[in-house]
Amino acid sequence: MNIAVDSPLVQDRVARKIRTYLDEIIAFRRDLHQNPELAFQEKRTSNLVVSHLASYGYQIEHGIAGTGIVATLKKGEGSRIIGLRADMDALPIAEATGLDYASRNKSIMHACGHDGHTAILLAAARYLAEFSEFDGTVRLIFQPAEEIGAGAKKLLAEGLFERFPVDAVFGLHNWPDVPAGSFGFVPGPAMASVDQAYIKVVGKGGHGAEPHRGVDPVLASASLITALQSIVSRNVDPREMAVITVGSIHGGSASNVIPESVELKLTVRTFNEAVRQQLSERIPALARAQAESFGAKAEVEYRFGFPSVLNHADETAFARKVALQTFGDEKVIADFKPRTASEDFAFLLQARPGSYLFVGNGDGAPLHSASYDFNDEIILPAAHYWVRLVESYLSSPVSTTTL
Ligand SMILES: [Zn+2]
Ligand SMILES: [Zn+2]
Repeated sequence: MNIAVDSPLVQDRVARKIRTYLDEIIAFRRDLHQNPELAFQEKRTSNLVVSHLASYGYQIEHGIAGTGIVATLKKGEGSRIIGLRADMDALPIAEATGLDYASRNKSIMHACGHDGHTAILLAAARYLAEFSEFDGTVRLIFQPAEEIGAGAKKLLAEGLFERFPVDAVFGLHNWPDVPAGSFGFVPGPAMASVDQAYIKVVGKGGHGAEPHRGVDPVLASASLITALQSIVSRNVDPREMAVITVGSIHGGSASNVIPESVELKLTVRTFNEAVRQQLSERIPALARAQAESFGAKAEVEYRFGFPSVLNHADETAFARKVALQTFGDEKVIADFKPRTASEDFAFLLQARPGSYLFVGNGDGAPLHSASYDFNDEIILPAAHYWVRLVESYLSSPVSTTTL
């Protein structure tokens, strides 16, 4: 995204001010990119964030959920409180971008853009402290361990919203292959739930030449894998989304030996809690019955992961309205579709109203790819958006003043 100097965006007061320190923020983002840290190990990252927030004048709680930070800023006498959340952790991926600021750690990479999310929130934090006028409280939540689905849960377990109340909480994720700097809002289910099933099909091993003397768990597994898709096509309401993927199958070691057992690993996704429940019952039942029909046995371990990200209607409508007022409808994607990926922001939305939104990252490799590249050009519009969201929320109703 190339922003022309005479565009309305640059003339806008917020964008103009952020531009004065944008280079610093981009350098900060690239430094995080070069020094990525895995879930719950974001020490360096979180120390850096704290030192910036402290210099802006925030009241800081450091060390919640390990490396987490809650930074609070109050202006005026208003009682409303808005929370904004960014995630800080990286992934166990060997970076293959060839960028000059690529990860210095060969096996860890910011392949989901959480370095960018952190930089965006910091850019907004500075503006809110130094230039914004609002009437109420803003809380910035820098969360550890999103990638392993543990950070948000831990924040809540440590009393996040009891100790640091908010009326609503918002988060954002960059999204590759969506035009850079465009915004997407989804009322209701925005990202899928994710659960896992581990199935061990146990037969009776033997000589590959004498199948009649054993029970073949490979054949039973082959049939089971095919039958599992019948749950999506025949049991789930066709108007609902469900994904069952058998991502791993392991069994046997020689062509002429029937193994004792075969192990399958499944990922299971949907947007609807009732369907989620249905899948969690139907998958084990089908696995057991299928195995039994071959004289084998299925041992099933079903692990619930995250629920679906369920955006609240009012907060999503509000968030969308702020984007429309700030950037106009050409930057707000009309009918942004839910994503089948998952986010542990889902837990925060179970605790408080709010909305999780998407910012286009432009063309490029997908999230979690070794070639993924966060687009620094989206820092300005995304930080600008956070500022306008806070200013609007803390001067309710949403201001219609021309910026
Ligand atoms: Zn991720
Ligand atoms: Zn992510």
